[in-house]
Amino acid sequence: MARANEVEFYPATFEERQGVHDRGLKPEYFKYACAGCGSITQARIVASARRPDATRNLWCLCNCGEPTCFVSSDRGVLSQSPSPLVFAAGKDWPEDLAKLYDEAAVTYSAGAYTAASMVCRKVLMACACEEGEADGKSFLDYVDFISGKVLTFPKAKTAIDKIRGIGNDANHEIAFVSRGDATTSLRIVKYMLDTIYSLPAA
Ligand SMILES: [Zn+2]
Repeated sequence: MARANEVEFYPATFEERQGVHDRGLKPEYFKYACAGCGSITQARIVASARRPDATRNLWCLCNCGEPTCFVSSDRGVLSQSPSPLVFAAGKDWPEDLAKLYDEAAVTYSAGAYTAASMVCRKVLMACACEEGEADGKSFLDYVDFISGKVLTFPKAKTAIDKIRGIGNDANHEIAFVSRGDATTSLRIVKYMLDTIYSLPAA
């Protein structure tokens, strides 16, 4: 039986068998941010294949054991799956808020920026309720509660106000959120929760 991280190959054609046995292929490595362990890794390229459009598929294996697939061209990496997480919840945050924020982070890394921003709005509303505001109010009421009763210094209000308009759509039209605005949402909510929950625990 193969040991952990020892690769077993399944050559299907004569040329593939020849590549493995006769052509003396050497190990190759590829540097990237691994979604599995969160570190910058110099991982083994386990296999590669040319695609019909002359780009390449790369299959890589990190030391942590998690695989990652790339599509690359002469100009560099075109896609990475799974994408590395850019944001993560703080360890001192209430459990449900942390879990919900991590869902927003996964959604953001998958490129679903509108969905990520909607989850961020939900995190802010749940945070306001956690801090004592009543249930069933509007998103803007909860923003006012946070900047009026929880994080009351003026510079916090300026920052938190940026989140008001992001993904703020009417029922009959969908306000798609750009990558830049989604980044602002994730960042502001993270700073907000860090100040409310992580700073007092430091
Ligand atoms: Zn890894």
